[in-house]
Amino acid sequence: MENKVALVTGAAGGIGAAVARSLGERGALVAAVDRDADLLQETVEKLAADGLAVEGFACDVTSGRQVIDTVAEIEARLGPVEYLVNSAGVLRVGEVADFTCEDWTAIFAVNVNGVFHLSRAVVQHMIPRKRGAIVTVASNAAGTPRQAMAAYAASKAAASMFTKTLGLEVAKHGIRANVVAPGSTDTPMLSSMWNDDINEKTTIEGNPGSYKVGIPLAKIATPKDVADAVAFLLSDQAAHITLHVLTVDGGATLGV
Ligand code: NAD
Repeated sequence: MENKVALVTGAAGGIGAAVARSLGERGALVAAVDRDADLLQETVEKLAADGLAVEGFACDVTSGRQVIDTVAEIEARLGPVEYLVNSAGVLRVGEVADFTCEDWTAIFAVNVNGVFHLSRAVVQHMIPRKRGAIVTVASNAAGTPRQAMAAYAASKAAASMFTKTLGLEVAKHGIRANVVAPGSTDTPMLSSMWNDDINEKTTIEGNPGSYKVGIPLAKIATPKDVADAVAFLLSDQAAHITLHVLTVDGGATLGV
């Protein structure tokens, strides 16, 4: 990955920042994209202080226009984008009967539209060059129903199938597109779901009341666990892997 440009969205978040670090450590020039400009700045400074080549680009992935302009700016400033990681995401939980249209729309705007906007803008640049690799960070909830997560799970299923179908289209250009499906991972998104009844212990041990079997490996994933899987799928070690979903959940969905 030496000196190749990697665009990572959600780079100020737990998993996105770990991906930025992991790719930076492999020699990539990282274009770190997030809508939270302050947190992004903090993250970029931290990574740069560790000697990594990272530049921040504030951008809201729900805006197709902003995404096109940001990708063009990254190409102009850093060079051809070789890798794209769609990690920006939002979670809002609630049972369908009480779910608001606003929450539904907000989830799809980021988790689905955002993935479309980035992937389209980046493959337009990759296709003439006949090279590139894309990974979308979806979720194990895309394939296993979870209590109060209908909107989120549906958005991740959409992002996952979108990415695989995109992979089919761009395979003829030598571009690969894969999905990493994390389970519970130690980031602000996970802790935002925790309360007296749902917490680290119940997540690991399982909870029959919500039809969750727990995590066979008996631990929550670290952001690095997920980032390592992303880095592998982007790398030449995965040169013949495309349209694949790599689940990183410690066995929580029993390999389904
Ligand atoms: P996080 O909340 O720590 O980070 C998400 C980042 O996305 C934040 O920095 C946020 O500012 C950014 N973002 C949100 N909306 C955006 C927008 N419109 N434009 C640009 N940036 C935006 O969450 P995380 O745990 O790091 O999640 C990363 C990805 O992994 C998400 O797609 C999430 O759905 C997925 N995931 C997380 C877990 C988990 O347990 N943490 C499990 C499965 C999947």
